[in-house]
This record gives sequence, structure tokens and C-alpha cells, in this order.
Amino acid sequence: MKKRIAVLGATGSIGKSSLDIISRDSENFETVLLTARSSRSKLEELSKQFPHAVCVLADETNGKEKLLSAIAETKPDITINGISGAAGLEPSLAAINAGSHLALANKETIVMAGSLAIRSAKEKNINIVPVDSEHSAIFHLLRFFAGQDGEKKENVSEIILTASGGPFRNLTVKDMENATVKDALAHPTWNMGPKITIDSASMANKGLEIIEACVFFNMPSEKIKVVIHPQSVVHSMIRLSNGVIYAQLSKPDMRHPIHDALYWPVTTKSTLEPISFDSLTLEFSKPDTDKFPMLTYAWEAAKRGGLYPCAYNAANETAVTAFLEQKIKFLDIPKITEYVMQADWTCGNLDLETVLKADAEARQRAGSFIF
Ligand code: NAD
Ligand code: MG
Repeated sequence: MKKRIAVLGATGSIGKSSLDIISRDSENFETVLLTARSSRSKLEELSKQFPHAVCVLADETNGKEKLLSAIAETKPDITINGISGAAGLEPSLAAINAGSHLALANKETIVMAGSLAIRSAKEKNINIVPVDSEHSAIFHLLRFFAGQDGEKKENVSEIILTASGGPFRNLTVKDMENATVKDALAHPTWNMGPKITIDSASMANKGLEIIEACVFFNMPSEKIKVVIHPQSVVHSMIRLSNGVIYAQLSKPDMRHPIHDALYWPVTTKSTLEPISFDSLTLEFSKPDTDKFPMLTYAWEAAKRGGLYPCAYNAANETAVTAFLEQKIKFLDIPKITEYVMQADWTCGNLDLETVLKADAEARQRAGSFIF
């Protein structure tokens, strides 16, 4: 039987790559739901390519409710969540509630309310398979080296996230002071949406991924390391207690982790171009946390837990929007995040209402710094 797939954020970068993978295997996949926020013409175009899919534009009045009920009504077998930002959280939870497995690119779901999403998924017997390339790599490595249910996880001494270092890897703090939106959008290896591209320049993307790894793999923050690897070929690594490191490599193409998530737990032949060693140089170096304090704040948020990760995300998201609108300077992004994180975000068990309230409060606090 064909797997019925929903693609949330179908007009974005992850959405486009997802539809490419789905289209390569029409024998096994059927697209049942396509959603977008504001790109009406792009969505109309997609509806012609996928005539059987329900198409939802989430910017109209009650757009969010329409999106959530479309997930509940179409009951996909797998939902690919490629929505950018905090707006992806509720759709992820709606997919889990509808009994749909999640191929999760929207890292904010895990950063903001990972414990809640993971708990709900367990109750419903739903798989959440990460699509973020680093977490996809670790997910598959852990499956081989720590057992599917993590029964041998004590053998894993470190999770090592690779980071391209973004377009500002070689800049000084002084250079970054006057960085323009155009400079920050010029990513050297990945072609992604604007929010995550700015996050790559500030390394907040790696910050979010530190938290994502901690929560998703239930590992203490001090076991999550970051290494700069400009080629983005090694997607991440794990170090076992015997000191040996295992890595996952492929071309920097998000269609690989999307492919792996859609076929999980089966490894199937892919028609994507394989990597060749003929002209490959791999470099690694230590990240500079003085230059990129968003890393330090993320380790701190991951360590403190509760609503700190949610506050980190909301502060950064608000700051990035303001930067893209040219209301603040690039280096204001970490300043705003640090300021928001200074409030008390401790909290016990997370529920959706608490998370959404904290998200709104953190945005307000960030906004008060901007205006
Ligand atoms: P993008 O900006 O290219 O696309 C975002 C999509 O989400 C668009 O279809 C947009 O219409 C939709 N959307 C935006 N706001 C929405 C809202 N409020 N309600 C409903 N739909 C909304 O973003 P992207 O680069 O594809 O990233 C998507 C997610 O995947 C992010 O969480 C990002 O961190 C993660 N991710 C992306 C990549 C990548 O290579 N692009 C890699 C790893 C993880
Ligand atoms: Mg990533």
C-alpha cells in the first residue's frame, strides 16, 4: 500500500526537496496534503503537480486552525514538517495526535517542547525521525551503536555536531559589526530558507541543534560537542566510550536525510548522486565561542532546561526577523538573546499552554529591547 504523505511548508526549501524525493517513488508514496503560509501562486502550481493533495494556505483568517484540522482530517501516514520557526510546533503535535509518523525538519518543535512531543509520540506509538542533517546522522549512528531503544547508550560518550561555520566563519567581530542582510544570507554550502541561513551566520542554528540533540537523544548538554567542518560532508559523529569516533558522510543535500526519514526503518536504494573521494578535502576546527556567543547561550539553555530553550528560540527568532527588516544590527541578535535569557524560565513539566505563553513572553521581552 502506498504511504500517504503530508508536506507542511511545501513551498520552502525542505518542502521542495521533500517533493522531489516523493516524486521519485510514485509507486510507494502519495501526497495527500500540501501547506504553505503565503506563497499562493507556488502552492497553486504544486496543486497542479499533485492533483490529489489537499492544499492549505495558512495565512488567511483562521489559517492555523485550517492547517491543524487538515492534518487531522487527512490523517497522513507520514508528515514531513518543513515549516520554519515556532509556527511548526502545533502542526507537529497535530500530526502526532492524528496518528501520523513525523519526518521532522522543524527543529523548533524539539527545542520548544521536545519532551511533550516525544511523550505524545510514545503514547501513540508514533516515530519521530529527524530530518535536520546532523540529527538524522546521529539518529542512524545511534541505531547501529546504541541499539534502537538506546539500550546501549551509556557506550556513547559524545555527540559531535558538525557546523559549516556559515558565511562569517573567517570574519572578525569587528567585520561582523557591519554585516548586512545580504552578507548573512550568502551561505557557502547549504541553500536554505532565510531564517535558518541567518542562524547559520550567527551560529544560532548550531545552538538550536545543540538543544535539539540534548532533548531528542536525552543526553546531558556537556556531552554535545560542536566542530567546524566547512565542507558539510560529515553530517555528525558519535564518540564511543572506547574513544573511537563514527561518522556519517554524504553530499550536502537535504534530500538524503529526507529520503532516510521517509523510508525509515528500512535502508533503500537512493537515486541521489553518491559522494566520491576523487576530489575531497575534509577540514575540522574548533568553534570560536567568543565570536559566536549564541553557542554558549544554547549550551546554557540546554543545561537549564525548562522553558530556557523556548526563550532562546523565541528571542532569536524575534531578533532575526528584526535583522531581516533592517531594524537591528547583526551583533544585536546575541545581545537580545542574552537579555531575554536573563529572565527566569525555570519550569517543571512542559505543556503546550505553558510553552506558548513563554514563547509570547520571550518575544515581548525581545521586542522591548528592539524598539
Ligand atoms: P523556508 O523558509 O524555505 O520554508 C518554510 C515553509 O514554511 C514555507 O513553505 C512557508 O510557506 C511555510 N511557513 C512559514 N511560516 C509558516 C506559518 N506561520 N504557518 C504555516 N506555514 C508556514 O524554510 P526551510 O529552510 O525549508 O526550513 C524549514 C524548517 O526546516 C526550519 O525549521 C529549519 O530550521 C529546518 N531545516 C531546514 C534545512 C534546510 O536545508 N532548509 C535544514 C535543516 C533543518
Ligand atoms: Mg542542521
